[in-house]
Amino acid sequence: MTAKPVLNERALPFDVERIRRDFPLLARKVNGKPLVYADNAATTQKPSVVIERLRHYYEFENANIHRGVHTLSAEATAAHEQARDAIQRFINARESREIIFTRGATESINLVAQTWGLRNLHADDEILISALEHHANIVPWQMLCEQTGARLRVAPINDRGEIEMEQFEALLSARTKLVAVAHISNALGTINPVEKIVQLAHEAGSVVLIDGAQSIIHCAIDVQALGCDFFVFSGHKALGPTGIGALYGRAELLEAMPPYQGGGDMIKTVSFERTEYNDIPFRFEAGTPHIAGALGLASALDYFAALDLPAVLAHEEHLLAVATTRAEAVPGLRIIGQAAHKASVLSFDIEGVHPQDLGTLLDHHGVAIRTGHHCAMPVMQRFGLAGTARASFALYNTVAEVHAVFDAIDKVLPMLRA
Ligand code: PMP
Repeated sequence: MTAKPVLNERALPFDVERIRRDFPLLARKVNGKPLVYADNAATTQKPSVVIERLRHYYEFENANIHRGVHTLSAEATAAHEQARDAIQRFINARESREIIFTRGATESINLVAQTWGLRNLHADDEILISALEHHANIVPWQMLCEQTGARLRVAPINDRGEIEMEQFEALLSARTKLVAVAHISNALGTINPVEKIVQLAHEAGSVVLIDGAQSIIHCAIDVQALGCDFFVFSGHKALGPTGIGALYGRAELLEAMPPYQGGGDMIKTVSFERTEYNDIPFRFEAGTPHIAGALGLASALDYFAALDLPAVLAHEEHLLAVATTRAEAVPGLRIIGQAAHKASVLSFDIEGVHPQDLGTLLDHHGVAIRTGHHCAMPVMQRFGLAGTARASFALYNTVAEVHAVFDAIDKVLPMLRA
């Protein structure tokens, strides 16, 4: 984080006020105050095009997909597959059959663990993760280790919240079958050197999964350039609906994987003697999917793709720079996560103040931040804390809102310390 805080928003090549008009919820008041939404790492707000897409589907297009001969079903099937194409384009996958719809990042990781993992991991094999992972990128691997006798290895992080790359490299060996690392840490904001991680893992002969839950709209994503084998993300953190997300997997890997759940759509033929499974991606999509969610997610990604990404990222970097400057001026505040490469996530601890009390009082001022362990308990343990307060910003946040967060902190701190 090197950008110098500029307090004049008009100086920026990014019309945040125009963006804000696309997000109706941002106009709401909370506790009588204009909402300042700084909990984007938990979930993002939705633009009108996404809300309208869901409404339009249910109002005019609703039908079950794949098996229907009637017009509505054919249209819904086509729209669902176009949504898959939109995701393929957004992350630059080679083919749309490399995109599996899931409920989100968590389900995508569990799918890989219970299909690829169960098929390919054996006793004494190793899975290498980092110490900054979300529980969703820890627990499925622990479960897989219990099932297979494989071992989980953890690359440590330094005091700035960066993966210790020498130790990461030292932990890689011929036993490493899978490396699973977050692109961006939700608890610390660290942007991990995923290109390097993929390269090192592949040199060691390991498959690599990148958890893109936090990076999907905070970095340029190109899975072919990155070269990862699996990439996962959730729609709701990418301006899309909840309950929908995706797993990208290289076709060769997906084709060799057994099914995840059994049911309709994931089969070609079923008899009591023998069931033949469907081709990818359908083999991994048992049952009626979240059709509206897929359409909404595609709208969200199309909306985001139409923006000037470098300008969005520069805007977010600027918000982080202003937030960091303000945070450093708060007495007793310690920023948790000071990586050289950081996304617009600011986690902090204030001496003598319980994060939950802070979050509750900020809410009285209309300020929404997150407090607690952020589903990353090992990160909190690493820094000797039960939890932090976390402000996380997105494209539609303004510099004025960053100031509003810290003005509110300045106001409530005397009360919390009394
Ligand atoms: N990984 C990371 C880095 C996350 O931030 C999150 C959500 N906080 C997840 C995985 C899980 O995402 P979801 O709950 O949408 O499945």
